[in-house]
Amino acid sequence: GDQRLKRVNKAETTCGFCAVGCRFDLYGKDDEVLGTRPADPDATPANGYSTCVKGKFGYDFANSDERLETPLIKEDGEFREASWDEALSRVVEELSETRETYGQDSLAVFSSSKATNEENFLMQKFARQVLGTKNIDNCTRLCHSSTVAALKQTMGYGAMSNRIKDVGNADCYLITGSNTTESHPVLATKLKQNVRDGADLFVFEPRRIELAEHADQFTRTAGGHDIAWINGMIRHIIENDLHDEAFIEERTKGFEDVEEKVQSFTPEKVEELTNVSPDELANAAETIAEADSCVFGWAMGVSQHTYGTQTVLALADLALVTGHVGKPNAGVSPFRGQNNVQGGGGDMGTIPDNLPGYQDVTDDDVLDQFEEEWGVRPPDEPGLRVTEVFDEVDEGNVRGMYIIGENPAISEPDVTNARESLQELDFLVVQDIFVTETAEYADVILPAATFTEKYGTVTNTERRVQLVRPAVEPPGSARADWKILQDLARRMDFDWQYDSPTDIMDEVNELTPIYGGITHDRLEENGDGLQWPCPDEDHPGTPYLYENEFNFEDGKARFVPADLGDPTELPNEEFPIALTSGRVLYHWHTGQLTRRSEGLMGHVGESYAEIHPQTAGQIGVADDEYVKVESKRGSIVVRAKVTERTAPGKIFIPMHFAEGAVNELTQEKLDPVSRIPDYKMASVRVSSMGPD
Ligand code: SF4
Repeated sequence: GDQRLKRVNKAETTCGFCAVGCRFDLYGKDDEVLGTRPADPDATPANGYSTCVKGKFGYDFANSDERLETPLIKEDGEFREASWDEALSRVVEELSETRETYGQDSLAVFSSSKATNEENFLMQKFARQVLGTKNIDNCTRLCHSSTVAALKQTMGYGAMSNRIKDVGNADCYLITGSNTTESHPVLATKLKQNVRDGADLFVFEPRRIELAEHADQFTRTAGGHDIAWINGMIRHIIENDLHDEAFIEERTKGFEDVEEKVQSFTPEKVEELTNVSPDELANAAETIAEADSCVFGWAMGVSQHTYGTQTVLALADLALVTGHVGKPNAGVSPFRGQNNVQGGGGDMGTIPDNLPGYQDVTDDDVLDQFEEEWGVRPPDEPGLRVTEVFDEVDEGNVRGMYIIGENPAISEPDVTNARESLQELDFLVVQDIFVTETAEYADVILPAATFTEKYGTVTNTERRVQLVRPAVEPPGSARADWKILQDLARRMDFDWQYDSPTDIMDEVNELTPIYGGITHDRLEENGDGLQWPCPDEDHPGTPYLYENEFNFEDGKARFVPADLGDPTELPNEEFPIALTSGRVLYHWHTGQLTRRSEGLMGHVGESYAEIHPQTAGQIGVADDEYVKVESKRGSIVVRAKVTERTAPGKIFIPMHFAEGAVNELTQEKLDPVSRIPDYKMASVRVSSMGPD
């Protein structure tokens, strides 16, 4: 017994699935994860003792036999094992040759929101300093880039303004475009408890999601014109003198523009466009305006549209009109997806227009500082965004790619196109823990470590930076991303000398003002992490943003009127049904982690389409039978789930599966501001395949 116990490691760490950032103790032996237990409650600010099914049981992936254990090189269309030395030499040779022949901007890097902050800092440094390319981006482009764009314009930071603890104490909630109980389970539990204790919950959604069952008012929206009901609410609030005049006067500017813009959003127009009745609109608007505090929560249902930025502008205007920002228990809460999409996907500068800490790539003072530290001036213009890279591949302008922990062969809209582009590249290196659908296209695959195997920090949806610690060893010769990057940089004649992630964090502290005081020493001391902005070592961190000022020179928030966007694809005779996609509780993103878990697959083992009974009747399909779903772009076969969760004439398909991949059907139409794709709107036809 003692012998065995000695070899068991316990690591107090942060969950690697979603951005709620639950903490727990992870147990492991050698390279095998054994399980989790609740951690010291002082070290679990987001979750206390709770975790969801993924955080608790979702570790088969880490122990899987399919984990990559050695580098692979493709030869005559087949992968063969290679040594690190051979694989890295090949990568250096190919990337250098492409750069010499076609210039540095013929290279593009996708960084990973699953890797740590320290590793993402190095990914953008590798792109900008070592390769000299301006093209660095990541999956945040596909999820909340529209949110970030709108919140930066109106309030100054592209982030959740409040903290999870306070979300559990609000008087009122407006939740839209978020299937919170399945996508952010532990956060949703806090919300539901508070609603049980008397808080008001308004859910505006096209689908009758589980959260709707807890709502004081569930309003089934038509989808496609969310800006109309939000602007309509603002109109109702102003008309009834329920707006927060003192707040508007002291803390904002541009109110008149919004006041004018919303005039045309009469209750009749709102109902016509969105199905929201005048009574429901008035009831929600009045309750929100009169509440002491309100949390505005949203996710992909809002952000993933060509008018995603406009919808978030409308939500920000609503929060400002009612004064529910910059005080405890209130605020704007975009629920982020990946465990580290806030930190690794944005804060660390892995985006084409910002250096770490959202510092503009065109700001000379900022560039001077990085040049002094790095000996190389970073590119001084914005690079290509994820959704633009593949077009440039097709044009022959991007020739080589380095993709770290991302799976665009499943996650891009209209994936058939993306796969063709991957095929066209002169050189592709993929760094991951499995041979993903994307890695199949690679010339070289480098085996990486996952969060159970490494040390560093991740930043959750409430801007809280927390430690991850290893409980097990990576399998075979797999290595942490930061070590692989350092090895490559050295081989390309850059003298990187990081002995540990702590050395990298020292550089982050120096170059990233909002992370100035977030050191590993402090995080080791206080288990409950630090929320940015935290400019220096004496600063306690910032539980909620905008207490005294918004993040602009004059400290005032900006009202920006939101324009009604046009739906990009409406059902027609040929494709009469509206398709939307989303998450389910038991799975994660492109499914690489959760599709390898027997327990989770036992709950939901394959892709499916939710179809309303009335629509199922019209098509002639029974529950559990297979259907063919076709759009202009592709066709898949999935099981029908006949349910009233979805509305008549609409179907829902989860996004986690490679067989029956919903992105074979989605369209590549982009929001003009953020370049986020319109995943949430496509028209399809559905036909029965008959019983099995
Ligand atoms: Fe992990 Fe998110 Fe589940 Fe918490 S809610 S255990 S962070 S997946």
